[in-house]
Amino acid sequence: MNTNVSHQDEKIKFDQIIQKDVPLAPFTTIKTGGIAKYFCSPGLFEELIAALEFANINKLKIYVIGAGSNLLISDKPIEGLVIRTSKLCRYSIRGNIFSCRSGLSLDRAINITQNDGMLGLEGLGGIPGSIGGAIYGNAGAYGYTISDRLLYVDYITYDGKSHRMDRGGEDFSYRDSPFKHMEKVIIFEAGFILDKNKYSTFAKQVKDNNTKNRITKGLLAYPSAGSIFKNPKNNIAGKLIEASGSKDITVNDAIICPSHANYIMNKGHATSSDIYKLSQICKENVKAKFDIDLEYEVQLLGDFS
Ligand SMILES: Cc1cc2nc3c(=O)[nH]c(=O)nc-3n(C[C@H](O)[C@H](O)[C@H](O)COP(=O)(O)OP(=O)(O)OC[C@H]3O[C@@H](n4cnc5c(N)ncnc54)[C@H](O)[C@@H]3O)c2cc1C
Repeated sequence: MNTNVSHQDEKIKFDQIIQKDVPLAPFTTIKTGGIAKYFCSPGLFEELIAALEFANINKLKIYVIGAGSNLLISDKPIEGLVIRTSKLCRYSIRGNIFSCRSGLSLDRAINITQNDGMLGLEGLGGIPGSIGGAIYGNAGAYGYTISDRLLYVDYITYDGKSHRMDRGGEDFSYRDSPFKHMEKVIIFEAGFILDKNKYSTFAKQVKDNNTKNRITKGLLAYPSAGSIFKNPKNNIAGKLIEASGSKDITVNDAIICPSHANYIMNKGHATSSDIYKLSQICKENVKAKFDIDLEYEVQLLGDFS
């Protein structure tokens, strides 16, 4: 299998890369969550492989986080190894192919490619995620999704083996990717096929406007994890939540965004448990009023029982 990952002979010592009892709230956009018993933020392929080896030897459950912008992490300790990808951010450009590691942020990827005169990613501007997290959930906005320009994904299974998935026609759909249905994989690198020498002020405006729109709509007024629920078929989750009479409900510092009822925000000292309770109330109210089951878009990590 042809992949872009490389190997190095030098042995990495576990205590150089694994930290213990690390608070996770700062690594999420909603600023809630407990501690990780073990934590690693690898910058190199070899460090990632060593982290997987550490988890395998110690029989630890593995959790992967990117920019933490679509995550609700339990307040209870995460009894396993949390791997954060943010230092895996190398990239390269060959012709009209942009390749990057999964921890690179979407906004950086857009800036890098635009500065090189490439177009195609600008519609994702303002989504505060990493490449890996965006591929995992097929993030998108304003009619664009990350899978539109995707050429390949290199991923690593928890046994340390590398694999390549070439982008197939129907593998991605609304907030869904093949990786959501595969167990024990880390997206390591992705390639995108972009338009070369097509840079335009229009494309730059698309990106800037996306960010401005989120500010104008008040979506950045307080920390959040983006949309809590997926839109049901032919419906809009926020509108259902509003019409179910849930909009003014609060649970401690967990509030519903006044301009977008599908955003739950942390007004200051909310916990993940507060956010989760409020989301459950919205879910129950929508079910009671419209007989519609809202499905979480946000990814729940850890124990919420
Ligand atoms: C203010 C705001 C606005 C937002 N607007 C949008 C929007 O317009 N459109 C949209 O689609 N989303 C939006 N989001 C949600 C979020 O930014 C996206 O879903 C983003 O793509 C998540 O990426 P992440 O790196 O933050 O993933 P994380 O939140 O860190 O993780 C999300 C999931 O992806 C998995 N994951 C992350 N990286 C990897 C990897 N390398 N390999 C395997 N699995 C991985 C995690 O295990 C987890 O299950 C918004 C969020 C906020 C806070």
